[in-house]
Amino acid sequence: MPKRLPFRYCPCCSTPLEKLDDHGHARPTCPLCGWVHYRNPVPAAGVILERKGEVLMVKRRYAPRVGAWCLPAGFMEYGETPEHCAVREVEEETGLVVRLTGLFGVYAGMDDPRARAVLILYTAEREGGRLHPGDDALEAEWFPRAALPRAIAFAAHRQALKDYFGRH
Ligand SMILES: [Zn+2]
Repeated sequence: MPKRLPFRYCPCCSTPLEKLDDHGHARPTCPLCGWVHYRNPVPAAGVILERKGEVLMVKRRYAPRVGAWCLPAGFMEYGETPEHCAVREVEEETGLVVRLTGLFGVYAGMDDPRARAVLILYTAEREGGRLHPGDDALEAEWFPRAALPRAIAFAAHRQALKDYFGRH
């Protein structure tokens, strides 16, 4: 995935941006209309769904980390709640319909080249659906603690699995 170039022009009025100080952070700022480019982490949500000691994971079809496994999760849509995002992502990626049972944990995602993320993970119960990989997954499978996939796409997911099996 190509590295994204920094913004050079104001998206509102096309004036070249200048790096101006904003409370100790140098941020690209429009000298004409005052637009400021804030780089904030993007919230993502997903679930840890267990069945008889095995956890549901999906194999990534698209970059980054094609072919590596991760928990069903994805970036929040504008106007969506984290809970709705988590339920939607599981269904899109695995075909399963789930009901959330609690907040599991919140993790900083620092190794996704697209964006810094804040990953909100819930525990869930299966309510229905049939397991089949969705559009952006190559496979959807259950994994026991002792045989998790070697290639796990993101450090936050690795840590969450470690934490989950440490508690269960
Ligand atoms: Zn501007």
